[in-house]
Amino acid sequence: MNRRQFIKVLGMGAMSLELGAIGFSSVKRSTEIAITIDDFNWNKSLRLIPEERNRAILQALRSHGDLKAAIFVACKNLDSDRGKEMLREWDRAGHLIANHSFSHKYLNSNKVTAEAFTADIARCDEIIRSYPRFQKLFRFPYLKEGDTAAKRDAVRAFLEKHGYRNGHVTIDASDWAIEDRLSSRLTKDPAADVKPYRDFYLAHMWERAQYYDDLARKVLGRSVKHTILMHYNLLNALFLGDLLDLFKSKGWKLIDAQEAFKDPMFQAAPKIVPAGESIIWALAKETGKFNKLLRYPGEDSEYEKAKMDKMGL
Ligand SMILES: [Zn+2]
Repeated sequence: MNRRQFIKVLGMGAMSLELGAIGFSSVKRSTEIAITIDDFNWNKSLRLIPEERNRAILQALRSHGDLKAAIFVACKNLDSDRGKEMLREWDRAGHLIANHSFSHKYLNSNKVTAEAFTADIARCDEIIRSYPRFQKLFRFPYLKEGDTAAKRDAVRAFLEKHGYRNGHVTIDASDWAIEDRLSSRLTKDPAADVKPYRDFYLAHMWERAQYYDDLARKVLGRSVKHTILMHYNLLNALFLGDLLDLFKSKGWKLIDAQEAFKDPMFQAAPKIVPAGESIIWALAKETGKFNKLLRYPGEDSEYEKAKMDKMGL
């Protein structure tokens, strides 16, 4: 049996195998995924009060192998003892705590200067650095990294100077758009059935995960240690556990965020303008070879609107 036949027998396809690494000990490696949660905008009480939401999200992670996520905090949400205490629960549970700027500015607006944006990063750093699990990872709000090369490079230089790394997303998604629909429905009808939102959410996240993983394999020739974007919201308080079960049922391996960020791919700094989106999207864009597979922005509520309307969400 030659190597090609051997691969076929194993049913792997040539896709995910590194040349030279093939032997009888070869087993297909699971696709790996870590959970990263943005914003920490905890001050909402629809269906669950803030402490219940916090507990629900933490419990979903704990009950899935004590999975450690990363939480990217917009520090304006730490303006009270209540918010600070809830973040301490994340700290005590061993999750990675990181910077998402103070006021969550849209860097690609021509009204936001690199100076104002970097001052906003520094302002969050001052507040969040005292948490023991804090690490110098920065996630750009809206995944927007600059509408000009000058701005992009100025912010990157600031991050480097201050020892920060980019806390990239590999799998971008629009959980926030589904959350908007869910919130509106529950505001009008507190007893509404939430299952259709759950089902749409799970299908959406799985679909986007497959898209970005496929794109990674095309652009890099391999899968990566994924970091999926989700938000601190009711949707995840209710259904994060189901989402984690879904990935496991598809054969994906849940890994700690700390582990995911070790993938060398996260060091990349694609020179595209406008800069940002998922790091996989940006790397694909930079090659100029995958434009048929790329839309801009990578994710948006617009793309989900018709589907959600049709389902009556
Ligand atoms: Zn955000």
